[in-house]
Amino acid sequence: MPAMAQSVDAKTNEAAEPESLTDGFHLVIDALKLNDINTIYGVPGIPITDLGRFAQAEGMRVISFRHEQHAGNAAAIAGFLTQKPGICLTVSAPGFLNGLTALANATTNCFPMILISGSSEREIVDLQQGDYEEMDQLAIAKPLCKAAFRVLHAEDIGIAVARAIRAAVSGRPGGVYLDLPAKLLGQVMEAEAGRKSLVKVVDPAPRQIPAPDAVARALEVLKGAKRPLIILGKGAAYARADADIRALVEKSGIPYLPMSMAKGLLPDDHPQSAGPARSLVLKEADVVMLIGARLNWLLSHGKGKSWGEPGSKTFIQIDIEPREMDSNLEIAAPLVGDIGSCVSALLQGIDGDWQAPPSEWTDAITERKEKNVAKMSSKLLSNSLPMDFHSALGALRSIVKERPDAILVNEGANTLDFARSIIDMYQPRKRLDVGTWGIMGIGMGAAVAAAVETGKPVLAVEGDSAFGFSGMEIETICRYNLPVCVVVFNNNGIYRGTDVNPSGGPDVATTVFVKDSRYDKMMEAFGGVGVHATTPDELSRAVNEAMDSGKPTLVNAVIDEKAGTESGRIGNLNPQSVVSKT
Ligand code: ADP
Ligand code: MG
Repeated sequence: MPAMAQSVDAKTNEAAEPESLTDGFHLVIDALKLNDINTIYGVPGIPITDLGRFAQAEGMRVISFRHEQHAGNAAAIAGFLTQKPGICLTVSAPGFLNGLTALANATTNCFPMILISGSSEREIVDLQQGDYEEMDQLAIAKPLCKAAFRVLHAEDIGIAVARAIRAAVSGRPGGVYLDLPAKLLGQVMEAEAGRKSLVKVVDPAPRQIPAPDAVARALEVLKGAKRPLIILGKGAAYARADADIRALVEKSGIPYLPMSMAKGLLPDDHPQSAGPARSLVLKEADVVMLIGARLNWLLSHGKGKSWGEPGSKTFIQIDIEPREMDSNLEIAAPLVGDIGSCVSALLQGIDGDWQAPPSEWTDAITERKEKNVAKMSSKLLSNSLPMDFHSALGALRSIVKERPDAILVNEGANTLDFARSIIDMYQPRKRLDVGTWGIMGIGMGAAVAAAVETGKPVLAVEGDSAFGFSGMEIETICRYNLPVCVVVFNNNGIYRGTDVNPSGGPDVATTVFVKDSRYDKMMEAFGGVGVHATTPDELSRAVNEAMDSGKPTLVNAVIDEKAGTESGRIGNLNPQSVVSKT
């Protein structure tokens, strides 16, 4: 029997020296480290408390959160920022379920992460005999992620971690669940056999070269375009083909539109950016090339009024996932492969006889951009009191311009919509937001991961409602002394703070919060810097100071409570009642 298949029980192996033994705990840690995974985001507790301790002792960075969902969101963002799976470690049943929300969100967003959860004893769980935190976690995780594995024997840990890494990062990235029953962690093996059982994954996300005829077809369609448009999505940001994407845009002369997390892939003030002429280009383009962006609700499924006449467009789509093609509309030129390989293949076709798009098209876009930019800029300078979204974001816009390598985290309803269009980004992967689901609650998890993974200052622009979902994690930010400045746009409620209880009863309306809350004092409670800002100047000063000092800071930015609109820009998604009117 080969040594690596041998599992040795410490109790019966009297002769073995402790240093010649290893166990489940250490095999998990060694397997991760062998694959250059050196950070864990999690919440300690039974049965994984010692796993975190040992990981820290072995030199891993272990960031403990207050709630698993935020640890999971941090792991997902770490995956997006590094192309390595972010690790979230949780306890069984409830901790696992808390982390599962983040795992599902990561999968939806195509971010690679691995949720590792401890679980109770299989024998008791499977007979439903009522164990501590009993739950069949594997079965529950399966439909919500790309792959789910359970490990029962210490000698399988190496293979399980390898499979989890491959599943998370290869092809379309996503979330993976790894179930570790408590008993596994204490299982003992000979150290040498343990070492041999580990797997260093070779080429975990292999390049996927597009077929030459698919490249030729895409170029053919592109060459026939009169009003071409490129849409860059967060898949393009993830792919790290920054230089080639920029070269493709610039050599082809085609205007481009960044989806929100693709902002900064080319600087937002690039002359070919069609961001400020979004409605014009979506409506008028005749050929649209999607690069790492899906035709989902964020793009109105490629249909409806915003897209002009039905059938007026021909689509080219670059994606690593073949089944993404034709998901909503016919894709005339599907280009299946990794974005780096696809873009570099296209670049070779943009050669000597390439014709830049007609100037009627590019001039019309420039004209519309100038008009919209002028309209916006006057609003940004307003010094009205209390601040509105525009004046507050006008201040933050300049700060981001002066600090292009800072990372912007952004969530909320109005706070999200306005910040997305007002704050220009200048470098790739600097904007982290609510992603494909448009969820609330990613803020502090994303901010922690951004600071930990990049070491750059982080500015988190949060609606007061959005902040509430992960607000307790400011203690985590203070505890690890992370360079995070949180700005809470405080308009006293969800959407706005002016709603009243329609029944006239004593409860406040469903969408309002305590008036004039002082979120800044929460930060002070944990030793961070708290600032109450009522004008754009005060806001500017506080944020600049925070970004210079790197001290954990929370700025309570007082926004006019009448300023927001229902559900921000997506109010149309609310169903309407024919019986009552709110
Ligand atoms: P956005 O929300 O910015 O429009 P989406 O999340 O909808 O972006 O789309 C991202 C797309 O990018 C997904 O369809 C995913 O399969 C794809 N993708 C992710 N990474 C790569 C890659 N390296 N190469 C090709 N496609 C990728
Ligand atoms: Mg609000």
